[in-house]
Amino acid sequence: MNKAHPSDIVEIKSTKHIALIAHDSRKRDIIEWCGEHKEELNKHFLYGTGTTAKLLTESLSLPIKSLKSGPLGGDQQIGSLIVEGEIDFMIFFWDPMSMHPHDPDVKALLRIATLYNIPIAMNRSTADFLLTSSHMDQSYPRKIINFDAYLKRDL
Ligand code: PGA
Repeated sequence: MNKAHPSDIVEIKSTKHIALIAHDSRKRDIIEWCGEHKEELNKHFLYGTGTTAKLLTESLSLPIKSLKSGPLGGDQQIGSLIVEGEIDFMIFFWDPMSMHPHDPDVKALLRIATLYNIPIAMNRSTADFLLTSSHMDQSYPRKIINFDAYLKRDL
C-alpha cells in the first residue's frame, strides 16, 4: 500500500465562503434551492459566477459577490479563489446532459476543489445534506495534502 501523504490543516471557519454556480439548465434549481435555504445562506459570505449571481440577487435579494460569467472565465476565478483560500465551500449544479464550451474550465474547477478538499455539492440532495450538516455552524479542520516533498523532488 502507498504511504499516506502527510497533511496540513486549514480551518473552514463557522462563517463559510460559499461559491454558487449553476449551468443554464440548472439555474431554476439553484434559485429554488437557495430560496429554501436563504436563512442559512445569509449567515455566510456568498460568491457566484456572473449570471447565477445576478439571478440569485434579483430573485432572492441575496448579497453575492459576482465574478465573471462561467464561460467568460468565472469558473477559473472561483478556482483561483479556492487556491488563495478565500472560497472554502462550493455548490455547483452542472449540467449532466450537454457539452459546454467551457468544459475544460469546469473540469479544472472540480479538480482544484477536490485537491483543496473543500465541500462540494453537485446536486440538490448533496446540497441539502451539506447545508444541514452540524459542521455548518462550527469551524472544521480541513485536511490538505502537504506537497513539500513533491516541491522538493529531485529533477
Ligand atoms: P454563469 O456561469 O453563472 O455566468 O451562467 C455558470 C457556468 O456556466 O459555469
